[in-house]
Amino acid sequence: MTVKVRFAPSPTGKLHVGNIRTALVNWLFAKSQGGMFVLRIDDTDLERSTKEYEEAIRADLSWLGMTWGETFKQSERFARYTEAAGQLKSKGLLYPCYETAEELERRKKIALSRGKPPVYDRAALALTADDHKKLEAERRKPHWRFKLSGGRAEWNDLVRGQQSIDTASVSDPVLIREDGSFLYTMPSVVDDVDAKITHVIRGEDHVTNSGAQIEIFLALGAQPPEMAHMPLLIGADGQGLSKRLGSLSAEQLRNEGYEPMSILSLLAKIGTSDPVEARESLQQLAMEFSFSKMGRAPARFDENELDGLNAQIVHGMSFEAVKPRLAKLPYGDQATPDFWDVVRSNLKGVPDAAVWLAVVYGGGLTGPDLDADDQAFIGEAAKLFPAGDVTADTWKSWVNAVKAKTGRKGKGLFMPLRRVLTDQEHGPEMDKMLLLIGGEKARARLVGAAP
Ligand code: GLU
Repeated sequence: MTVKVRFAPSPTGKLHVGNIRTALVNWLFAKSQGGMFVLRIDDTDLERSTKEYEEAIRADLSWLGMTWGETFKQSERFARYTEAAGQLKSKGLLYPCYETAEELERRKKIALSRGKPPVYDRAALALTADDHKKLEAERRKPHWRFKLSGGRAEWNDLVRGQQSIDTASVSDPVLIREDGSFLYTMPSVVDDVDAKITHVIRGEDHVTNSGAQIEIFLALGAQPPEMAHMPLLIGADGQGLSKRLGSLSAEQLRNEGYEPMSILSLLAKIGTSDPVEARESLQQLAMEFSFSKMGRAPARFDENELDGLNAQIVHGMSFEAVKPRLAKLPYGDQATPDFWDVVRSNLKGVPDAAVWLAVVYGGGLTGPDLDADDQAFIGEAAKLFPAGDVTADTWKSWVNAVKAKTGRKGKGLFMPLRRVLTDQEHGPEMDKMLLLIGGEKARARLVGAAP
């Protein structure tokens, strides 16, 4: 059996860390098994799905390196769903219901007030042929429910172990709305059957769905795939991420300078028995992937951890790798390998290099606000600054001379010099920075800040 999995996002929003993790686990599992990763666009909801979101999802997955072997859209397959619905109808497993939303809500409340589970009472199954005729004559449009067996749907979940859903405790799911549109439940099954999906891997919010879907697989004469339901993500504060997912989109993370491999390393490891560590490639993550390492507790997505991984990955990046990215920043086309070696360990993300590009290759800096004392001090320092080109020793010998002349030491000595030369209070070692900035620019900055 060749493993075939699918990632099935709905193009009703941006890809966020929650669905990136689902995509990733599918991708890693497929890779680790020599199988195929399929991208399915779940756009049955034509009103909320957009072409823009669909394209953004494809672009985001590509940016993350999660390539797909096949891709298709549900909106291209409505004829097939209609056919499958016909199959279920002919077996009496898909039945028309005419209750309005208000009516259902009212019945739900009554059930709850009687201490009963708010399960659909199947009143529609009791409708006679005459009732149907009357309703049709009134031009009432039905929605269609799948008739669950009332028995138990069972499977051995790759993450959760043996599962058993009592289908009598859930409502018969609506598969088709009044307007004839399909909800996600049945198309997903039809697609999984037709695409020969061997493993359905998704969040544990789908566990109940799986009970119904397993019965739909069987009703369509198909073998249900293996299933894996992963615990959901929570934030570092232990709270669910749902409200914050908007700011945790792939797009936002990319704009903030996060590298694909820091996002992927974190998402592959949280909630598993492996330590969270930066990895260089999806291949490496795939080699280390196993469902047996995945726990049942929610996976903690901690942005500080992401920052740490990102910094680690950026610090290890070669100039060749980063060159095209630097080139997109102001002055970035002038960056040299030496520049990168000096600044990289100070960056949280590649875009942070912009500051240092401006310091090294830019013209005048805004210049710090210095008090009168510091200004006078800079005046002295400027006078002592050697003529001509700077060398690797310039900083040290110059600072020693400034120290001897002014009597300043420690922070009082270094900080004003650093601030005038770089406009920053922190940064790479100054001897190396000075070498990059060059004598002429350094002199001009000192003179400019002097009284
Ligand atoms: N479109 C569904 C979702 O995003 C897919 C669920 C599934 O993987 O079956 O939740």
